[in-house]
Amino acid sequence: MLAAEAAFEALVAGRSRDELSAYPEAFENSWLKAELLQSKNFKQWFKKGRTIATLMTGIEQWLLPKLGIRNAPWTIHRTQADHECLQPAASQPKIEYPKPDNVLTFDRLSSVFLSSTNHEEDQPSHLTLKDPSIPVSVNLATYGGPEARYCPAGVYEFVGEGSDTRLQINAQNCVHCKTCDIKDPTQNIVWVTPQGGGGPNYPAM
Ligand code: SF4
Repeated sequence: MLAAEAAFEALVAGRSRDELSAYPEAFENSWLKAELLQSKNFKQWFKKGRTIATLMTGIEQWLLPKLGIRNAPWTIHRTQADHECLQPAASQPKIEYPKPDNVLTFDRLSSVFLSSTNHEEDQPSHLTLKDPSIPVSVNLATYGGPEARYCPAGVYEFVGEGSDTRLQINAQNCVHCKTCDIKDPTQNIVWVTPQGGGGPNYPAM
């Protein structure tokens, strides 16, 4: 909304080549920045355990604002990237998920259909691999093929059998959540912005 307002003001003023410096300025002065600063340590505290997280979140989000302080004078920095936290599949219990009941839960492709996701068929794929062998040799062999599980749109599918197994990428279904960009264990997946505004287009919003 802040970006749209800055763009609207620039267009109304006839500045069609404006760099929209009004947008970062508006963000600096917005409720959004204040709210983000107030919750900047939330996730990091919860990585330290529920007791300390409850205590510190209460201090940061209830006590300090009562004293007029919305930005705690300390910041807990991340020490490990998300993709470094994935554990080998063999070290973890196997989870059996219940099948969708089509009342409250639905299969992934039905949900992708509702998002009206669309990318032009002949555009270059916005999802590529640095090394096409890694999905099978590392991701499937060690981590159980996480991209075929975490992707909410079923973009990644392991097809074929035995030595013919390969990763198929159905990029046209991508709903732009960027999980694969963040979570791929070897950071082998390259996500770039697709051309021409393709992507989800939720009709009810
Ligand atoms: S961005 Fe999200 S929806 Fe798109 S391929 Fe990656 S995980 Fe799937």
